[in-house]
Amino acid sequence: MDEGKDPQAAGQGEAGAAAPARIPARIAKPRGGGRVAPNMPDPDALCADFDWAQAREALAGLPGGGLNIAHEAVDRHVADGRGAHIAIRWIGKGGDRRDLSYADLAQAIGRFARALRGLGLAPGDRVFVLMGRLPELYVAVLGALKAGCVVTPLFSAFGPEPIATRCEMGDARLLVTTPELYRRKIAGLRERLPGLKHILVVGDGDAEGPGVQRWADVVDAAAADAATAATDAESMSLLHFTSGTTGRPKGAIHVHGAVLAHWATGRYALDLHDDDIFWCTADPGWVTGTSYGIIAPLVCGVTNVVVEAEFDAQVWYEVLERERVTVWYTAPTAIRMMMKLGAGLLAGRDLSALRFMASVGEPLNPEAVVWGQQAFGLPFHDNWWQTETGGIMIANVAAMDIKPGSMGKPLPGIHAAIVRRGDDGHVAVVDEPGVEGELALAPPWPSMMRGYLNEQARYDKCFADGWYLTGDLAKRDADGYYWFVGRADDVIKSAGHLIGPFEVESALMEHPAVAEAGVIGIPDPTVGEVVKAFVALKPGFEPGEALQRELLGHARKRLGAAVAPKSIEFRANLPKTRSGKIMRRLLKARELGLPEGDLSTLESDEKK
Ligand code: AMP
Repeated sequence: MDEGKDPQAAGQGEAGAAAPARIPARIAKPRGGGRVAPNMPDPDALCADFDWAQAREALAGLPGGGLNIAHEAVDRHVADGRGAHIAIRWIGKGGDRRDLSYADLAQAIGRFARALRGLGLAPGDRVFVLMGRLPELYVAVLGALKAGCVVTPLFSAFGPEPIATRCEMGDARLLVTTPELYRRKIAGLRERLPGLKHILVVGDGDAEGPGVQRWADVVDAAAADAATAATDAESMSLLHFTSGTTGRPKGAIHVHGAVLAHWATGRYALDLHDDDIFWCTADPGWVTGTSYGIIAPLVCGVTNVVVEAEFDAQVWYEVLERERVTVWYTAPTAIRMMMKLGAGLLAGRDLSALRFMASVGEPLNPEAVVWGQQAFGLPFHDNWWQTETGGIMIANVAAMDIKPGSMGKPLPGIHAAIVRRGDDGHVAVVDEPGVEGELALAPPWPSMMRGYLNEQARYDKCFADGWYLTGDLAKRDADGYYWFVGRADDVIKSAGHLIGPFEVESALMEHPAVAEAGVIGIPDPTVGEVVKAFVALKPGFEPGEALQRELLGHARKRLGAAVAPKSIEFRANLPKTRSGKIMRRLLKARELGLPEGDLSTLESDEKK
């Protein structure tokens, strides 16, 4: 370890300068790797030479020239003689375990694809998945991709409102869920979703309604011989909803060609080797849990551990030890929760199999990187990407020194820059190291979204002068490492989940007492940000604890616990621009005691 010697550290603004003395500026890595030679021993050299054709050559493609994610993730390995290798090792809440070899998985997804055809679904039709981490979820996602259908995974902790909005916008034709989730969240929405013709329920329990059938009757009974649909690199594969500052969520369109990036990032960012036991803790209801909890590890042919239970440090450590996990991909909120509980819980555990640990989704504080070293003997490797990019773009990789607090460097095939947007809509690249601006990426790359569903203008707004603008503020240091600074917009990141303030405000506005609502994220030491709402009431309603509780309950019921505000404050008025937009930025500045900034567009003010 090279304690604090990096001359760049002082020039890195908050990320570097604020680091306490015990945080090294750099964690040096042995060239050529540790126990296992990294897939990318010389990252700079590969970046200089890389061509996406190399990734395409590593994959099989379909007979006749097409490309299909499920074929690359499953059937290719069976054809290559690795059918007996364990593809998915599922660990249930009650301790049950189920291993699915690549050959088992190929059969299962063939059956699901056949069942979809039997139900009349055609390539391009939308299949939604709403369930916890059960084996059937993995089979449904891959089987639908095999059938050429477009998959949208939903988070099982969403309330009915986010589910209905996404199913409506995405034109859901078939939904795979559990009887309990059906009864609690879907049954009451059926009239709003006339296009949702089929519901497959997994497991026991009552679920009745039009088009509701049991997985066991439809899928288990189907033949396993479905042929892979003739998709190509530009065929739509996944539709992932993500939140923006304004309006409804955005449906990011992804294509089968993204599998090139899944393969390359699995190998280079996560350093996956054939015999790895990999565990991604993210839920497939969010993009990380799909790209890296399902697709990338299988495309790379490793054993993918799936843990049904939610976070519990003891259970997680037990999984790491018992399953001999070699590569672990998790998130800052979970790491901070483990830090709080202390490394003592790890005493006596044999984690000698663990070789590489990575983190994504929110800023990873330098202390957490270093804590990884103390607790596990390995640092966490932060990496960065977003729903729109489809795969990891910037990463601390195995054979690269880590600068704790930095997201790392762009991966092979990815060109990044810091840019400034001008009032004329053009952007200028900021060349000087250490200067803050918006993180931009140069398209194309295979996993880049191809559009926002039915929203061309919103999509076009993400691009200027040949750059894709990420909406994140960052800076780059003289060594080419990128440092996250914050969001350029008002979206909230809580426990790694991106939350759109507009979606929360709309749910609050449905309550008869609410005249206006403004929603912001408040910094939180564990989960990054928590959602807070400011509410102005309609005449005739009085602020008070009972109403506060009622509104919190209303929001929770509509939105689900993952999205609903944790606190609500009443205000006589909310600050608004002349065009009537609530100034969330000002609400936040006042809440946090920060400078109020430019108030020239402020029309009405809560203080009046
Ligand atoms: P999502 O599309 O839900 O995956 O969220 C993407 C957003 O999460 C990014 O635009 C960032 O704001 C944030 N994010 C992802 N990874 C990181 C990271 N390593 N450090 C800081 N923020 C991150």
